[in-house]
Amino acid sequence: MITVLKQGTTQAQMEHLIAWLRAQNLDVHISHGHDYTILGLIGDTGKIDMDLLASLDIVESVKRVTEPFKQCNRQFHPDDTVITVGNAKIGGGNFCMIAGPCSVETEEQIIEVAEKVKAAGADILRGGAFKPRTSPYDFQGLKGEGIRLLLEAKKATGLPIVTEIMNANYLDLFADVDIIQVGARNMQNFDLLKELGKTDKPILLKRGLANTLKEFLMSAEYIMSEGNQNIILCERGIRTFDTYSRNTLDLTAVPALHEMSHLPVVIDPSHATGKVRYVPPMALAAVAAGADGVMVEVHNDPMHAWCDGAQSLNPEQFADLAQKMRVVREAVTQ
Ligand code: PEP
Ligand code: MN
Repeated sequence: MITVLKQGTTQAQMEHLIAWLRAQNLDVHISHGHDYTILGLIGDTGKIDMDLLASLDIVESVKRVTEPFKQCNRQFHPDDTVITVGNAKIGGGNFCMIAGPCSVETEEQIIEVAEKVKAAGADILRGGAFKPRTSPYDFQGLKGEGIRLLLEAKKATGLPIVTEIMNANYLDLFADVDIIQVGARNMQNFDLLKELGKTDKPILLKRGLANTLKEFLMSAEYIMSEGNQNIILCERGIRTFDTYSRNTLDLTAVPALHEMSHLPVVIDPSHATGKVRYVPPMALAAVAAGADGVMVEVHNDPMHAWCDGAQSLNPEQFADLAQKMRVVREAVTQ
């Protein structure tokens, strides 16, 4: 961490600050420039309150040279993390297609969708059993029964499954789930993240609606700091001033997260756009940007979906998109 002192700082003021920093087990390297004095803080600066330091009268600016996220940081782990579930691999040059309905509705629905997305080349089946809805009057998901139906679909097709958890109290219900999803609204539910960190289940962590990439990585760090290293990052659109699409897909997140972290990055163009006609172009753009996977909502009858029909592809549209994604993937990985 680098601290620049204001011009006019007295020797006594500087020594007072240095004593305070040394008392926090830091070494302080002093360099006197022509106009400014710079303090290089060496040691575990993670516990230093940067805002407090920056607020001091004699401090001009403070800059971290290392990030507070350590375990997900590529600096300390240069090789890509690869997550394996069933026959699917995510990360490290492996591309993965996740598809399925917003919500599990009936056994017929989930099995039909599972069979059709599998035939089109999907690697993993998605489906919400616990649904975080904006309105308490909307369908809240089939909960435990939804997970049971997903497991039936897994048995019928062999596809691994991913489904969202909203409360760690229900963790037992997820024993046979392959990947546990943490939804955008729970990205900073730190107690939930810590509980999931104690498991060894792969976690698909979605970026919050208004969270920075660094906050996103700090949430991954919460899970990893408890021991679980199996995390997939998922960008699903953020809130911006424009409401024309449901959210704004931040595709820069793909190269930026790859630069900062070794964790795989998946794009969800369905929640990012909210409109079915925008999903294929954004999915293809995600593949071109180097995403490790794409997660798309697919429903056998979008007009009658219990949730998010407007952004759900039908199985034929998904099959067409899957084919195009393979072509783009091949083009950009040559
Ligand atoms: C979902 O994937 O089902 C979902 C609710 O997405 P998000 O948390 O990104 O809104
Ligand atoms: Mn949805």
